[in-house]
Amino acid sequence: MCGIIAYTGNQTVVPILLDGLKRLEYRGYDSAGISVISRKKLKTIKSAGKLNQLEVKIDNSIASHCGIGHTRWATHGAPTDENAHPHNDSHHRFAIAHNGIIENVDALKNSLANDVIFTSETDSEVIAHLLTQQDGTLADAVRAVVSQIVGTYGLAVIDQQNPNTIVVARNGSPVLLGIGDGEMFAASDMAALIRHTNQVVHLDDGEIAELSPDGFKVMRMDASVANKKAITLNAQFAHYDRGGHPHYLYREILDQPDTVTQTLSGRLDERFSTAHLGGLNFEARDLIGIKRITILGCGSALYAGMAGAHMIETLARIPVRAEAAAEFRYRNPVIEQDTLYIVVSQSGETFDTLAALREVRRKGGFVLGIVNSVGSTIAREVDGGIYMHAGPEVSVASTKGYTSMLVCFSLLALLLGRSRDLSPQRGTSIINELKALSENIQRVLTLEPSIKKIANKYKKSSSAFFIGRTNGFPIALEGAQKLKEISYIHAEAYPASELKHGPLALVTKDTPCFVVLPNDELLQKTISSMEEINARGAPVIAVASTHNKEESTRIHKLAKAVIQVPDAGALTQPVLLGVVFQLLAYHSAVGLGRDVDQPRNLAKSVTVE
Ligand code: GLU
Repeated sequence: MCGIIAYTGNQTVVPILLDGLKRLEYRGYDSAGISVISRKKLKTIKSAGKLNQLEVKIDNSIASHCGIGHTRWATHGAPTDENAHPHNDSHHRFAIAHNGIIENVDALKNSLANDVIFTSETDSEVIAHLLTQQDGTLADAVRAVVSQIVGTYGLAVIDQQNPNTIVVARNGSPVLLGIGDGEMFAASDMAALIRHTNQVVHLDDGEIAELSPDGFKVMRMDASVANKKAITLNAQFAHYDRGGHPHYLYREILDQPDTVTQTLSGRLDERFSTAHLGGLNFEARDLIGIKRITILGCGSALYAGMAGAHMIETLARIPVRAEAAAEFRYRNPVIEQDTLYIVVSQSGETFDTLAALREVRRKGGFVLGIVNSVGSTIAREVDGGIYMHAGPEVSVASTKGYTSMLVCFSLLALLLGRSRDLSPQRGTSIINELKALSENIQRVLTLEPSIKKIANKYKKSSSAFFIGRTNGFPIALEGAQKLKEISYIHAEAYPASELKHGPLALVTKDTPCFVVLPNDELLQKTISSMEEINARGAPVIAVASTHNKEESTRIHKLAKAVIQVPDAGALTQPVLLGVVFQLLAYHSAVGLGRDVDQPRNLAKSVTVE
């Protein structure tokens, strides 16, 4: 959440900052601003609203070669011009851009003289005023200030008296340094840097870096120097583009046949009918020692984890539960040695998930990560992991990221299954199922016209239900999540069996009910739930895997519309059924004229608690 970009070098800085903010806008988009040092003066320009409202206020050719920019996701104070970052001190010497939350803001404000005038309601502004009270270099001043902060920060600071220097600091919110030729960048994530460089340094918590056109120096809180090595990221600018499509979300849905191939690439071991997952840091002996698994994630990652729990339990017969990372972390969890903990996060920066990971590791638990962003904080802090290799996900609502999480869980379930009772024959059939996944997603994508028709028919509904049983329930949860996130239609998911215990009271002819029907042993029971909904006059839309004639006829009789995905096997059904709901949410949102890529109140990479 929130995007920071900073640059010092020979180029004119404003276009670099604005382009960086555009790339980061998915991390926060309620207001934005920049500060630059031009002719020995600090200039700060900011605006509430989307980036284009800032752009019209800025003269691109301001003579400046050093500056910082910020796109905000408000935590303290409404999205107004005044609350937009960067913030300045009263003498306009410092400008700061902050990502995170300062928990002891009141105490810090009280430590300042009474006559200090605050111009915003943010927690962040206090940093600018505190800087004026420090001595030494800019890095010394920043160190002295951040050492007083309780809370989280990704921070970038410029100082009118040090016109080519930028100081950045990190605790809990990501900061990357980008190394150019005679120039340096810093940003909250790779999206803002990729056009300029793929040589990056990830700051760790408690580190401060001083940037000048000639290079960088990373220091710890005790002022000692940290020798950080740059890594080369394998990312391309084209991956951060809409690829000619109207929305990132749409591009990312259509990319899935390729992204699942990347997730699977090199990981199917046909010789031993298992999966090959090099990053787990596990010996075969460790695998059989696992008695239980706990999966932790937030939002779509949690729903992918719930689907993953079913996969692992079914194939490996290990008890698995999935839990919201923040809930887990705060209930003083019992950590066991023979339990495997798995944290799931597309960005690898999700604060609640990161905090849960740290809680488990602090208590001595072994944690695996399922993460997309290479080199992200979670990826660096886990004991082992599986990279999703889905390429950058820009849309706030996750699609290809979620799908690749499911694929990673399939691979892990296969590996754990094969380390136990799963036969080589069954292993081979799963490998074949996974090899066919890309083509089967392609087939689901050809159903788009019918899905679009359904979306347009029901887009005016004020409420919708999503129903499934066991394997189908996490798919229903994610289907409801997608619809509410981007179309703002109130959508709730229930296990089909729970309907009669309460929610059925809300089912009327105006509440479409989307029923998830994986082809499994509960199919007949879910069809019976369709009968119950039908009896209350609500329109049923069935999304089914079965192609059995008798079952299909029954489903068609009970449903107003049926979407039939390929009956490809138990493990890949969640992906194929899930893609239908992605297209449904997308076309509902487009039909309603919503801002698909930047849904209200949300942002990508949730780095606040
Ligand atoms: N807490 C700060 C604010 O509300 C920073 C928010 C952000 O990370 O965008 O301004």
